[in-house]
Amino acid sequence: MKNIIFIAPPAAGKGTQSDLLVKKYNYVHISTGDLLRSEVASGSDLGNELSDIMKSGALVSDEIVTELLRKRLDQDDARRGFILDGYPRNVNQAKVLDELAKSLGITLDVAIYLDMPEETAMHRALGRLTCPQCGKGYNKYESVMKPIKDNICDDCGVELQGRSDDNEETFKVRFNTYVENTKPLLEYYDNKSILKTIDNSGTPSDTFNSIESVI
Ligand code: AMP
Repeated sequence: MKNIIFIAPPAAGKGTQSDLLVKKYNYVHISTGDLLRSEVASGSDLGNELSDIMKSGALVSDEIVTELLRKRLDQDDARRGFILDGYPRNVNQAKVLDELAKSLGITLDVAIYLDMPEETAMHRALGRLTCPQCGKGYNKYESVMKPIKDNICDDCGVELQGRSDDNEETFKVRFNTYVENTKPLLEYYDNKSILKTIDNSGTPSDTFNSIESVI
């Protein structure tokens, strides 16, 4: 199974695509955003420090994220094929990841770029909802991703929640951070001949079909 790195603007649907890959191929989904949100939820000193940075839309320091990632990649299940969602976010992290992969004996097989216009990404961010119980993602603006009952998880029946960084102001900061820091990764992985670009402006299943054709 090919190990996957996702590169995409905020709210592109990396989480949704990852869930589909986990269900169909039993991939391990490693999201640095989720690892950081768990740290925040734990109420630790580190978590409190991270919370303000994440709410602002800025990036957390490379050292903190890399340490969380190193611990996660070192777990046995990561050997069965993983999706990296949200890391690397800049060229420095990509270089660190190369070293980390070498030291752990894992390969980075394909970098999938989910290409879409900024307006579409912002629209998705503003409509995004998640079930706090099972983690399933919804979108109130996308007909194929709406919950059956407004604001309620189809599976758990509990109230869905938005993310504190999915507002217009923070989205713009996150998008600019992405253009400045993360987009240069396209050249980085193209130079390594592992970059695959996918049109992500259609439905989640269109994108999933394209992803399947490259893994
Ligand atoms: P995400 O869930 O991937 O959208 O990440 C949410 C937030 O977590 C980002 O806006 C950053 O503040 C932080 N974050 C996630 N991954 C990284 C990373 N690789 N490097 C730095 N900050 C990160």
